[in-house]
Amino acid sequence: MQIIKKKEEFRESLLSWYHREKRDLPWRNTSDPYYIWVSEVMLQQTRVDTVIPYYERFIDSFPTMEALADADENDLLKMWEGLGYYSRARNLQAGVREVVESYGGEVPDTRKEISTLKGVGPYTAGAVLSIAYGVPEHAVDGNVMRVMSRLLLIEDDIAIPRTKKIFEDVVMDLIDKKDPSSFNQGLMELGATICTPKPKCLLCPVRDFCTAFHEGRQEELPVKTKKTTMKVIPVASFAIQNEQGEWLLRQRPAKGLLAGLWEFPMIELLDGKTLPEKVKEQFDIELEEFVELLSFKHIFSHITWEMKSFKARMTEAETIPKGFKFFTNQEVEALPKPVPVIKIWEEIKRGE
Ligand code: SF4
Repeated sequence: MQIIKKKEEFRESLLSWYHREKRDLPWRNTSDPYYIWVSEVMLQQTRVDTVIPYYERFIDSFPTMEALADADENDLLKMWEGLGYYSRARNLQAGVREVVESYGGEVPDTRKEISTLKGVGPYTAGAVLSIAYGVPEHAVDGNVMRVMSRLLLIEDDIAIPRTKKIFEDVVMDLIDKKDPSSFNQGLMELGATICTPKPKCLLCPVRDFCTAFHEGRQEELPVKTKKTTMKVIPVASFAIQNEQGEWLLRQRPAKGLLAGLWEFPMIELLDGKTLPEKVKEQFDIELEEFVELLSFKHIFSHITWEMKSFKARMTEAETIPKGFKFFTNQEVEALPKPVPVIKIWEEIKRGE
């Protein structure tokens, strides 16, 4: 690892660029720790452009921590619908409830206390502390690791969790104590707009300080070993109507993948049986008028669903499978659904 010798000059270059070029994002016009917290949770694994409308709707609906603490889970999930990683929403609400109940509605301003809140990891803690409270604390995510690995030629594998500590120490050494908010946001902004996987070094405000650039090695960094291959699961989903034209759905379990969201009956197709056989085996019903809808892939962080979807009918002679209920079109529309179910539902609406 190299070191940056002229730290003050480095900070000045980064901060003046940030103040000049920063994107006007809704959460940058506030220092309310709750709003910053919401934005940081939404931004995990999700692009800024996608987050903006979600953030605005969320803050409109739950303008205070008390409002979010009191919110019904279905309303919360509906607000998060399409954003993915739904446990983030539940953890955010649980963390906010802790603040309301145990901290008199004030988000704690020390790393020790804020880190005890549900869903608040080292990155979110550092982001809220530095941006809302001006506390010089590191906020290291994948973007920041990419930038710092290039600036300082850090060749440790960022896929290994303990490597993060190296970057946290480096940021703590460099951080601007007078304006840690702009320093951290400047690094994030640089990673998001200039020091991207294909870096735009000729536009970079800190190029003079960048070891990887001087050695022509910027595209080799960060070092990140490949994840093991992703498991692919073939899945079939059935949008089943009764004779009144209502749709059969169930709520997924409260824990695990897509917890608490609503779905059409779904089966994994791993054993080579035909669709009607599988439906009979799993739900003990016989379906009529099978129509194929959409085929698509849905990629989670660790598995991919290779999804086939169908529309079908169920007669009154059949018993509703356990855990399922029929819903009218309007009710289906209002239920919080995961992205694959939304895609199928949109396709059904297009065809009607
Ligand atoms: Fe990243 Fe290039 Fe700037 Fe170095 S010079 S920090 S590699 S954009």
